[in-house]
Amino acid sequence: MALILATRNPHKLREFTRLLSVTELEPLPDGIELPPETGDTFLENALAKARAAAAATGRAAIADDSGIAADALDGRPGVRSARYGGEHASDQENLELLIREVPSGTGLHYVCSLVYVEPRSGEEQVFEGRCDGLMSAEPRGAGGFGYDPVFLPLDDPGGRTMAELSDGEKDAISHRGRALRALEDWLSRRA
Ligand code: IMP
Repeated sequence: MALILATRNPHKLREFTRLLSVTELEPLPDGIELPPETGDTFLENALAKARAAAAATGRAAIADDSGIAADALDGRPGVRSARYGGEHASDQENLELLIREVPSGTGLHYVCSLVYVEPRSGEEQVFEGRCDGLMSAEPRGAGGFGYDPVFLPLDDPGGRTMAELSDGEKDAISHRGRALRALEDWLSRRA
């Protein structure tokens, strides 16, 4: 049975669909409202979204919450990554603010909390993924989304930004890829 993906973000649906092979994904049906991301942690926000989608559909649902933490900003923007440049800031505005506030060469960390919720049994499982990197001197690349043009992943020896990697290269090292592979391992073990 396909899992419901509790997001309204088309980039996420695309990445999740690409990454998950042991199960199918369905987008969140129209008309279901997701709670605002007001939690203090990625986990709280992911749990709230997955629980809301599971309760509204009666189906097993997954949700993630993710973001970027800058060492130079003591971990900000963190859970506020989507609203870093203001409540309705675009990805581009958020990226431009990060470029203004974070010195190149300092540490950046992508973090992803991913949650599975089964409404009938009440089962909940949590998976976490992380990707460490450095702030680049200038934005480069047209792939990925969000902060990818300035994120130099430590796992890429070529010094490319996340936005210069192919989809497959990003998936292999990204916070979301790692969390989703942990979910896949767990799903295939219980199948
Ligand atoms: P959310 O998980 O939808 O709340 O997104 C949090 C924020 O983190 C968004 O502004 C994204 O742009 C950013 N973010 C999360 N994952 C990535 C990524 O893989 N690349 C670039 N930005 C990301």
